[in-house]
Amino acid sequence: MSSYREKVSPKRLLRQEILALHGYHVQPAADMVKLDAMENPYFLPGEIRAEIARAVANAAINRYPDADAARLKKIIKAVSGLPAGIDVLLGNGSDEIIQLLAMAVAKPGATLMSVEPSFVMYKMIATFTGMNYVGVPLTEDFALDLPAMLEAIKHHRPGLIFLAYPNNPTGNLFDAVTILRIIEASEGLVVIDEAYYAFASDSFMPQLGNYANLLVMRTFSKLGMAGLRLGFLAGSKSWLEQLEKLRLPYNVGVLTQQVAEILLQHHEVLLQQAEQIKRDRTWLVERLVGTIDVHAYTSEANFILFRLPHAAKVFEGLKQRGVLIKKLDGSHPVLLDCLRVTVGTAEENELFVKALQESIHQFA
Ligand code: PMP
Repeated sequence: MSSYREKVSPKRLLRQEILALHGYHVQPAADMVKLDAMENPYFLPGEIRAEIARAVANAAINRYPDADAARLKKIIKAVSGLPAGIDVLLGNGSDEIIQLLAMAVAKPGATLMSVEPSFVMYKMIATFTGMNYVGVPLTEDFALDLPAMLEAIKHHRPGLIFLAYPNNPTGNLFDAVTILRIIEASEGLVVIDEAYYAFASDSFMPQLGNYANLLVMRTFSKLGMAGLRLGFLAGSKSWLEQLEKLRLPYNVGVLTQQVAEILLQHHEVLLQQAEQIKRDRTWLVERLVGTIDVHAYTSEANFILFRLPHAAKVFEGLKQRGVLIKKLDGSHPVLLDCLRVTVGTAEENELFVKALQESIHQFA
């Protein structure tokens, strides 16, 4: 007979699929040149920081936040170029919105579909919410495989499709017409995840009014607010009023609301930083392309995917030299020998390039 301790153990009480999961891994980064997580590397100008300090000093943290975050939503709408009649739902990061969407559509047997390789949380959250997951492989050059997508849609009838635009970890924008074909073919909800919109040349925001099953999700994480945790979902009232029922009442805290309002009042500063990151991305791509044996992929995001021989060893070599990037080698067959570097400050980028060249020589 099993003991009481065994009876009430996680192994006995938790769902099998949760026990089988590997949690989302965050690499330790203390004292490293941190180029692994697509953060904006810049500090804010002194005046804005002083404004934030004053707001935080006076913030009513003894009170619950404004559950509707009305002021913050107003300013988000003003800076995001939303079409008429489109509203927003706020999340504690866009991760939370992915989860909320999955919870909303997770009827018994429902399927969440995305492409592979893409953002790993789509699959993880499908598991959290008890949904089936289908990941349709991208083509070899990381494009959408339309016939395969249409076939998978017909076969699995997904309730929810996520397409990251630009895609993470590949950095490319999928063909927009192909996406429209997918939206038209789907009888489920299609969410275009524009986490990297600030660095991209296109957006589905203007299409929102045109398709009844289309929603667009964004985050402010890559624009300089990763630590605040703020994302939003844009869509018509008929969708958002239902999804709002699932949003936990106080999911966006007092400090996040206040600080994000201030930052968005200085939206031009964040956009200038994004423009600098785009220029530095060009510099970094040129360096990577000019490095023997390295193949760098075109990016419309604030990171670059590249492939090179002995990637796992080079990744360790970079770490030994104090530079942390992301190793994708081993995570998916098509990402064999791939690494991903976030665009940092000019100085960080130079440190990365130097460490990369040294590491490559070490293992050549
Ligand atoms: N979507 C994509 C495509 C991402 O790459 C990320 C972050 N890596 C997110 C969503 C989640 O961002 P956050 O939760 O910080 O808003």
